[in-house]
Amino acid sequence: MEAGAAVWVRDKQEAWVAGTVLERSAAGKPCTVKIEVEEDVSEEPLTFTISEDDGCELEDLKLANEEDMDHVEDLIALPHLHEAAILHSLCRRFDRGDIYTFTANAILLAVNPFKRLPIYGKDLLTQYFDVGCMREQGIEPPQALGPHVFAIADSAYRDMMKGIHAGKSAGMGPVNQSILISGESGAGKTESTKFVMRYLTTVGNGEGGVELEKGSIMDRVLQSNPILEAFGNARTIRNDNSSRFGKFIELMFDKRGNLLGAGIETYLLEKVRIPSQAHDERNFHIFYQMCKGGDDEERERWELQGPEEYHFVNQGDCYDLRQVEDEDEFVQTKAALTTMGFEASSIQTIFDIMAGLIHLGELEFEASEEDDAAVLFHEEDNEDCLARVCRLCYLPEDGLLRALTSKTIEVGPRKEKTTIKLTDHQAYDARDALAKAFYGQLFNWLVATINSHINCDRKEVKASVGVLDIFGFECFEHNSFEQLCINYTNETLQQQFNQFVFKMEQKEYSKEGIEWSFVEFPDNQDCLDLIEGKKKGLLTMLDDECRLGIRGTDANYFSRLYREHGEAERFEADSAMRTKLCFAIKHYAGQVRYNVHTFCDKNKDELPNESDVLFASSTNEFVVNLFSPTGGKKARSKGKRPISPGQSSTSTNTSKKDSPGFAGLKPTVGTQFRGQLHDLMDMIRDTRPHYIRCIKPNDNAEPDEVSRVRVMEQLRYGGVLEAVRVARSGYPVRLPHKDFYVRYRCLISLNKKVKKSRYPLRLKGGTAMAQKMCKDLVKHVLSPAMVSMKNIPADTMQFGKNKVFLRKNAYDFLEMIRSRRI
Ligand code: ADP
Ligand code: MG
Repeated sequence: MEAGAAVWVRDKQEAWVAGTVLERSAAGKPCTVKIEVEEDVSEEPLTFTISEDDGCELEDLKLANEEDMDHVEDLIALPHLHEAAILHSLCRRFDRGDIYTFTANAILLAVNPFKRLPIYGKDLLTQYFDVGCMREQGIEPPQALGPHVFAIADSAYRDMMKGIHAGKSAGMGPVNQSILISGESGAGKTESTKFVMRYLTTVGNGEGGVELEKGSIMDRVLQSNPILEAFGNARTIRNDNSSRFGKFIELMFDKRGNLLGAGIETYLLEKVRIPSQAHDERNFHIFYQMCKGGDDEERERWELQGPEEYHFVNQGDCYDLRQVEDEDEFVQTKAALTTMGFEASSIQTIFDIMAGLIHLGELEFEASEEDDAAVLFHEEDNEDCLARVCRLCYLPEDGLLRALTSKTIEVGPRKEKTTIKLTDHQAYDARDALAKAFYGQLFNWLVATINSHINCDRKEVKASVGVLDIFGFECFEHNSFEQLCINYTNETLQQQFNQFVFKMEQKEYSKEGIEWSFVEFPDNQDCLDLIEGKKKGLLTMLDDECRLGIRGTDANYFSRLYREHGEAERFEADSAMRTKLCFAIKHYAGQVRYNVHTFCDKNKDELPNESDVLFASSTNEFVVNLFSPTGGKKARSKGKRPISPGQSSTSTNTSKKDSPGFAGLKPTVGTQFRGQLHDLMDMIRDTRPHYIRCIKPNDNAEPDEVSRVRVMEQLRYGGVLEAVRVARSGYPVRLPHKDFYVRYRCLISLNKKVKKSRYPLRLKGGTAMAQKMCKDLVKHVLSPAMVSMKNIPADTMQFGKNKVFLRKNAYDFLEMIRSRRI
């Protein structure tokens, strides 16, 4: 850092600010930097001093790149590669409207523009496909196309096709691909997922052309989005169209790359939103679509007024979306259900039940005068309401009332069944639990039915591309069981990312005996152990507590947790937290404080225990099936991710193996989710992953506004910084010795002094011999040529036990001179 050098200086408000080194003295001594500030902020430029620690790289002071490097399309190309440089590049690109940036060609960073950009049209989509085709055939495309979500989708599609053509044995890596999209709520995951799906359905359209035929398999696959969004998305304070469930969609292709069908798996629908919403948030979109968008006839049938009238949809005091009209969306939802192939009678039943659930929230209870047991409040109104709910949900009135006001328990040594009356409080809980369960089953059924309509003949499936759109890391003021599950998911995904990018690389290098300065990366296995450990993990201990029945409590759970993990590195609960039954986990992305209140109930997720009988007595076969033990299971297993070719069916069944098998009870929410997550990870492990990291530039959903601190946080949480370092310090190209030799032997004519006979056409001898021949080839032939033609540093190639490792620049150069020779 010489005087005059352009630098970045760490700053609390702006993350990094630009500066110039004024004067520099010897290592360990202060170094004076002038900060450039905007004119209107301060007239005098600030000058301050940073002391240096023994000549190490400064934590708070980094060299800046030349200005013309600001717009690199791949961060890997930045000469000075650190947090400040990455942040600056991303922000500069974003200012120019370039929201996408590559990282080592493997990760796409996508900064949410919060405004419609004209970069998703059919023409551009086709261009990305054409350019991909040219590259594949070794033709340099006439125009370069920048980083884009279409480019990632294209490379996944192409990797898959390469795999299909090469067959499994050719060592091409996995045929199946996955595109893993992560980021905070509102960062743009779901929008990215839709672009990826549009790309893949378009290029997978065997009929040719970019127009999708109405009702074709491609169209149906795409129409799954508006349906799932209507029933699974809601307005939250972070995102007007926030997905309240996780989704993995696997698109299946035949040997020619035509789309055959798809399968959808969903995760952890946020059912608590049905009975209660936070201020400024809404319930699921569908309720508002119906209240506002239903025609006269429909609203009469549903007896619905505006959403302001109903407890289940008015608690957030928020009724509209800022960008779209619920009325229009309702038209789309209905059209999508029809295109998908839902029968008219099913569609009517679904909407009836939705309306019934809205009315269910209107039922009110009070304690009866004689014995405190719950009875309907203000009998007349409520009786009308009860009748309405029962008409719309196809349930008998006496049965529903019984399920809401009483429960059956087993007493005495002979476990005789007795019915006891509930208090008014318990009746409200029963009402809410029933609404959640009803909605949850209906959502599962929707997913299962969509799956049955986009399914395909598995025998023809040759490979697939899976797209994961799942809730990002969450850290609120109050965090509960849901956040624990969500953050557990993100820990798991982060570990998968680490493993892929870091561990695989390092393993390969050390196996090959390649010199490589090991990059340190954060390992979060200990955090995963804390959460999902078989014996004493947080989830297992919660199951243990729930197994105690009514004797199990949140407070007990907390004390056992504290006793077991109080000292753990990743766990924290000081005395102030303990009095509130709070603990914190140090996640890879930061510390999150959880309150264990309601953990047990949420984990058990029990239905009112009279409801089996209630649903069985429904007059509607659909409702009976929704809740019958086999009906429910059928819905679940149909909704399960289809098994890909070559994948054993056993791996999809780990959830059963993991289940603790509650005597007579269904598995807990935690256990089910852990099983699902493990299935997902087993599946992803067998694919070649591609990553999209979505970044939210500000918390106000404003276009053209960037909070540098928030962007930097997300870069850190997403593991982007470490990934960049590894990819750059690594050797992206590796060729087995024989292949290297055969490929570049033709270059011996570059050096007139080399005797051709020394380099026979074919290599003889074992691996050590092969390595020596390759080394010699480089030493005698390639190095002189490379040095003379372009200055390429010495460590651009390394010779491993089985392969030659090349940096990208060396490989590009060799390819270039080779192409001139042949
Ligand atoms: P997430 O799924 O990560 O919570 P979404 O994908 O729903 O976030 O994006 C939130 C909002 O941001 C969208 O409703 C849309 O308004 C905007 N948005 C996201 N990505 C884009 C994009 N590529 N172009 C324009 N707007 C976008
Ligand atoms: Mg989303």
